[in-house]
Amino acid sequence: LALSGCSARGNSEGSGSGSGSGSSSTIKKGDLIGVALPAKTSQNWVLAGAAFKKSIEDAGFKADIQYANAGSPVPDQQSQISGMVTKGAKAVIIGAADGSQLGSQVKAAKAAGATVIAWDRNILNTENVDYYVAFNNFKVGQLQAQALLKGLEEKKGDKPYNVEIFAGSPDDANATVFFNGAMDVLQPKIDDGTLKVTSGQTTFQKVATQGWLAQKAQSRMTDLLAQYYTGDTELDGVLSPNDTLARAILTATKAAGKDTPVVTGQDSETASIPLIMKGTQYSTIYKNTTDEAQAAIDLVSDLADGKKPETVNDKNNDNGKKVVPTVELTPVLVTKDNAVEAYKNDETLEALAKKG
Ligand code: BGC
Repeated sequence: LALSGCSARGNSEGSGSGSGSGSSSTIKKGDLIGVALPAKTSQNWVLAGAAFKKSIEDAGFKADIQYANAGSPVPDQQSQISGMVTKGAKAVIIGAADGSQLGSQVKAAKAAGATVIAWDRNILNTENVDYYVAFNNFKVGQLQAQALLKGLEEKKGDKPYNVEIFAGSPDDANATVFFNGAMDVLQPKIDDGTLKVTSGQTTFQKVATQGWLAQKAQSRMTDLLAQYYTGDTELDGVLSPNDTLARAILTATKAAGKDTPVVTGQDSETASIPLIMKGTQYSTIYKNTTDEAQAAIDLVSDLADGKKPETVNDKNNDNGKKVVPTVELTPVLVTKDNAVEAYKNDETLEALAKKG
């Protein structure tokens, strides 16, 4: 993955006049930065609002931070972004509720001279996104799959392992990248017979969880258990894309009277750390939300200072129109073995890990 950054600005196409394309950054300290976040489908989004407020104000900008409502996330977010542009935001940072539904809003933002930054989740099928700031999502998926395999080896020597696969929401561009990263590791193990996906459900479409909703994962798990794990067929492991869904999956396996399978996760949610320390949930991923927000604001500060931000081109961040120049952070795999160490710079999580 080559360092780039060269195509970061000034090459928007398709708006006919090309009027937006010449506008090099006009952002300066004191300007308004809009942050549009999706509904609070997991704890990281709850943390994001406060993290952005602090980093924006500390950097000397003004903040307009808004969340979409769970009932109507797409129209909410569309009108919030338009509103930010009307209020004169010079940068719009977006955690997309639906990455495919923001084309006209980001086009209008660019036309008004704002820098558009996709945050945590990419924005798809548009030229009008300047940067993407996120953890390496493909790596997240790979780490989850590696954890699943390691947990299975620790728990049970004899193969094959019976497993099921869950993915996130189809409207979140991250969900396919997490899934692809995981399958990069799991598919060879399915092919060589180490893993047996008892239900046979291995395509993204079959295993996706609309809206990242815990209830949907729980009922899918319940149905799979009733259909494929009757009698003494054991479920050894489950690839779960995040902690919220991991807990839902564990609730379903417990209700079905099954032994606890090896279950992966993501986000280091406070509700999952005690489960990890007890060995009920096998693993999670740590993605520090404060660092991720700070990375976006550092990027905006660089632009305000006339500096060229350091970005990478990662083909997993191809949004269908271009590989969006990315500020990429590194995710950390956490199990009970390294939790205290992994959370050493995070008071709340460290305390939970130490408590056990
Ligand atoms: C985020 C995950 C989160 C999921 C559900 C994804 O886009 O990257 O951290 O668990 O959304 O909210």
